[in-house]
Amino acid sequence: MTPSEEDLVGAALAARDRAYAPYSHYHVGCAVSAGGRIFPGANIENASYGLTLCAERAAASAAVIAGERRIDAVAVATQSSPPAPPCGMCLQTIAEFADDPARLPVVVVNDRGERRRFTLAELLPHGFTGAALESTRK
Ligand SMILES: [Zn+2]
Repeated sequence: MTPSEEDLVGAALAARDRAYAPYSHYHVGCAVSAGGRIFPGANIENASYGLTLCAERAAASAAVIAGERRIDAVAVATQSSPPAPPCGMCLQTIAEFADDPARLPVVVVNDRGERRRFTLAELLPHGFTGAALESTRK
């Protein structure tokens, strides 16, 4: 059974509490729905700033490592107002595992109860896909 938006948002908020963000103090939690299960992730910073891992990529990685290959929905919890969508790198990562970006919901929330709903296609309308690579092999 597909987790509800509330289940996904709750998991993202809980994951945000486990963020490791001693430098930016910008805590992010994410939860992706895949195969009927919820996979949480949080941002993990590093003293070498470029090594920082976003919550969204952490959650997507957890799903893939568990054997999932299709992400069905994404929730992200930030401290921003309005709630911030994922960065471009994370959108590209999610797109790799999206069957139909126009039907993949991405909901972003914060502690103030603000909530914004997008589809992946709205946030990444012209993402790079494997189809581009395949087109060179014809
Ligand atoms: Zn990101």
